[in-house]
Amino acid sequence: MRIGIGYDLHRFCPGRKLILGGVEIPHTHGLAGHSDADVLCHAIADALLGAANLGDIGGHFPDSDPAFRDACSLLLLESVAKRVGDAGYKIGNVDTVIIAEFPKLLPFRDGIIASLSGALGIDPARISVKAKTNEGLDATGRQEAIAVFASVLLEEDEKGR
Ligand code: MG
Repeated sequence: MRIGIGYDLHRFCPGRKLILGGVEIPHTHGLAGHSDADVLCHAIADALLGAANLGDIGGHFPDSDPAFRDACSLLLLESVAKRVGDAGYKIGNVDTVIIAEFPKLLPFRDGIIASLSGALGIDPARISVKAKTNEGLDATGRQEAIAVFASVLLEEDEKGR
């Protein structure tokens, strides 16, 4: 088995949709970024790549590449999951923490997990999405940004490695 961690943070900005785990969340602001700025998908992708020792999301999908402007990060995550699978691993579980003062994410949690389940090709029971505030402190607490921590466990599949 191999463990991986991922972290990402994106600033809030007006005039964009807020997308988390491929799900549009109604909010006054979206997140700034070259792609759709889906900070949850980015953190999970980095955790997967880290566990498989396949680099990081910036190396696979450079933000200097126009092809990834406004890209759907759920599709990028699906691509990462396929690369990890091709390298000889299957995903054991994914655990995440979203740090967001607002909006409240609990009503969207099941939808986000279902969306991630489709992209990762694993049972929803293997995916955990938790949301916390930052008690009003720092950039996330001031509603200037959303940050995400993710961890994953990979298991060698029958092909071995
Ligand atoms: Mg990012």
